[in-house]
Amino acid sequence: MAQIIDGKSIAATERELLVARIEKLKAAGVIPGLCVILVGEDPASLTYVSSKEKMAHALNMKGVIHRLPAETSQQELIKQIELLNADDSIHGILVQLPLPPHIDADAVAEAIMPEKDIDGLHPLNAGRLLAGRPCMIPCTPNGCMELIRSTGVSISGKTAVIIGRSNIVGKPIALLLMHEHATVTICHSRTKELAKIASQADILVCAIGRPGMIKKEMIKPGAVVIDVGINRVNGKLCGDVEFNEAKEIAGYITPVPGGVGPMTIMMLMRNTVEAAEKQNMNK
Ligand code: NAD
Repeated sequence: MAQIIDGKSIAATERELLVARIEKLKAAGVIPGLCVILVGEDPASLTYVSSKEKMAHALNMKGVIHRLPAETSQQELIKQIELLNADDSIHGILVQLPLPPHIDADAVAEAIMPEKDIDGLHPLNAGRLLAGRPCMIPCTPNGCMELIRSTGVSISGKTAVIIGRSNIVGKPIALLLMHEHATVTICHSRTKELAKIASQADILVCAIGRPGMIKKEMIKPGAVVIDVGINRVNGKLCGDVEFNEAKEIAGYITPVPGGVGPMTIMMLMRNTVEAAEKQNMNK
């Protein structure tokens, strides 16, 4: 029976560390500031942005949401970002995805100044991540790495399989695992023999967005299974992994909810605090 990787409690430990860093910043007259921009009314996005704002407030940080109508033009959105780039009270900017189809998410990511790009989507941060240099690491991948480390299983030399190749989740997780010396395979919607590849993984990360797609025969006995997927089935949240059967065979597994989600939000806070520390040092 797998050990459950408790994302909530690991996030709570991280939170304690952050509280101390925020206190130190406050003593130096700096309140870490996070601004989340939401374009449109997508209900899931609305839930995500308000939980980010709430967490910022719970940590005594500045947390603001800029809500823009769905018909906001790309130019208007970029103008808002430029104002925030110049605002000294905001250290981290996040544009909630997905954006309406008339807005080019890449152009938006490039508009955020790299120092405030707390989701690591600016090409400068993405390039630095590729090169293994210090950078702003995307929050969900960063959280996944902390969850994997929490198991105590050594990453070096392990076979890691990532299912999903998005810029925000799959690709950065693959890079981070490779930097820690795992042998990494990335699978996606056109991968042939997915089950065969997945079942060889010592570390299996699922970032697909298909409820219960990963069955127990796709999991190597004893594997570390990180389920990034967030799906809603009949009003209930579930991951990409068929949790009840997977926990019989995996060594460690994250639940949904209560696994990757709480860590993602804590990593967002950590990146904001880190950004505030660096911006304060460079004043
Ligand atoms: P995405 O849609 O951009 O990418 C999904 C990936 O899955 C693609 O690369 C695609 O090739 C792959 N895929 C789709 N169908 C497949 C199949 N049948 N077989 C193999 N691969 C397949 O999504 P994303 O932004 O990377 O997010 C993935 C999931 O993670 C979603 O459920 C999303 O809600 C969730 N998510 C969770 C958090 C969190 O904090 N827990 C954060 C971000 C995303």
